[in-house]
Amino acid sequence: ASGYSLLRDPRHNKGLAYTEKERDAHYLRGLLPPSVSTQQLQEKKLMQNIRQYQVPLQKYTAMMDLQERNERLFYKLLVDNVEELLPVVYTPTVGEACQKYGSIFRRPQGLYISLKEKGKVLEVLKNWPERSIQVIVVTDGERILGLGDLGCQGMGIPVGKLSLYTALGGVRPSSCLPITIDVGTNNEQLLKDEFYIGLRQRRATGQEYTELLDEFMTAVKQNYGEKVLVQFEDFANHNAFDLLAKYGTTHLVFNDDIQGTAVVVLAGVVAALKLIGGSLADHTFLFLGAGEAGTGIAELIALEMSKQTKAPLGETRKKIWLVDSKGLVVSSRKESLQQFKKPWAHEHEPIMDFLDAVKAIKPTVLIGSSGVGRTFTKEVIEAVASFNEKPLIMALSNPTSQSECTAEEAYTYTKGRAIFASGSPFDPVEYNGKVFVPGQSNNAYIFPGLGLGIVISGAIRVHDEMLLAAAEALAGQVTKENFDKGLIFPPLSNIRKISAQIAAKVAAKAYELGLATRLPRPHNLVKYAESCMYSPTYRSYR
Ligand code: NAP
Ligand code: MN
Repeated sequence: ASGYSLLRDPRHNKGLAYTEKERDAHYLRGLLPPSVSTQQLQEKKLMQNIRQYQVPLQKYTAMMDLQERNERLFYKLLVDNVEELLPVVYTPTVGEACQKYGSIFRRPQGLYISLKEKGKVLEVLKNWPERSIQVIVVTDGERILGLGDLGCQGMGIPVGKLSLYTALGGVRPSSCLPITIDVGTNNEQLLKDEFYIGLRQRRATGQEYTELLDEFMTAVKQNYGEKVLVQFEDFANHNAFDLLAKYGTTHLVFNDDIQGTAVVVLAGVVAALKLIGGSLADHTFLFLGAGEAGTGIAELIALEMSKQTKAPLGETRKKIWLVDSKGLVVSSRKESLQQFKKPWAHEHEPIMDFLDAVKAIKPTVLIGSSGVGRTFTKEVIEAVASFNEKPLIMALSNPTSQSECTAEEAYTYTKGRAIFASGSPFDPVEYNGKVFVPGQSNNAYIFPGLGLGIVISGAIRVHDEMLLAAAEALAGQVTKENFDKGLIFPPLSNIRKISAQIAAKVAAKAYELGLATRLPRPHNLVKYAESCMYSPTYRSYR
């Protein structure tokens, strides 16, 4: 390749960091100014630039430009500055980026499959330059974060998630494929927006939708084989559960909103037991919100309980109660409940009001997964604190404005007795002279390591036992030092180490279940996982 094209290839470009020898060998003389830099110095300069921007979206575009210009440097920044840059390339900033995707759109990232491509999906996949794909993240843009239907502009989500697969889980960037399926949007504002990049029509549903998804899933398997992980992301719940159930038996599929959330929250709950006491089955759970997150978490907790106590799932589910927009999920509502809520319709008189439900159920663990902010009111939190020495409160809804309560409210209304974690980050809180550090129940703890474990073992299915193994692995990473601060999650700065531990546990389970195809099984799976991880350090070109 000519030096000129080398500089324009993000996979190989090193900018000023090309050495004198490389400049000679690759026809780069004169195409670069004389100074020779290092990756460290480039990183320092870029971090300085990014920190200068006040507007988060400017930081986001700066990072996206870097990704398109110099991929290794992009990942070096992300790996070395996880806590600072995660909110830039992922939630909350990525949400704003999706909303404005049409106007900030420059070079297309990922693959767009719209209704126009119906009947030709396999050909579209073949247009993608990489042949060996290991992880696909796909969305149809209908429920982007807590922002609703963003149609084709949801592409920011698969792009962002996959950059975390690489940075946090070490999956090679060339093996990652972001995809947006565009079946239209019901977002009136976007349909009217002259810069909207998607199909200008209302969402296709029913047969037309099902057929396109089916063609896509078939084409994926045909083109990449059965060891490609397909992660469904930000589909609306009226499709998400069905897609997962439908393709779960034929494909290697995973839904982060349902399963990833469940794993990270289960890990948090298991870790929290060290602080609040008792075993899982000793606790009573009450959820506000019975959607993808709520029912997904509830099911995995019930499964783990059942595994621990040998009690049937039907029994352990009874320790878990859910409230939706119509009140407590109970058996008398069964006829009108969506399929995914039916396992949670227990015997109880109907209760409309959440505070009344709290008083009736007397939960030891309170979980918010409703998407509605400030619903854990002072009265609700005080009620939970009145029948628990140490209540566990998890306010999971994102972004921050939607959190069921703030960290400060949780600590203040329980007089410092609550163990608190949230979906969006909160700063530490000082109460009565003591500093409380809230944990963040971030899915980024789980999916990168889980994905790596699947990739390195060549697993062909995602089994529930693999999810439980991932939760155990994460819970096991919380140190005494973390617990002493009230933390139930380890710091994200150690995420690559944590991901390797999760990957190893997941892979071990895949081998145990006979779902792994990469044989023979490596002896030390942690070491093996670490050795497989992509390193963003520059390579030398001789
Ligand atoms: P979803 O499938 O739309 O479910 C939302 C649920 O909340 C539904 O059951 C809905 O009731 C219920 N709900 C809505 N308004 C309510 C109200 N005023 N009172 C009581 N219940 C109400 O959404 P999802 O995917 O589960 O996501 C929910 C939230 O969880 C989002 O804010 C998301 O950001 C957050 N989340 C956090 C994490 C994390 O912390 N790691 C991960 C995933 C999701 P109906 O069923 O009656 O409509
Ligand atoms: Mn999601």
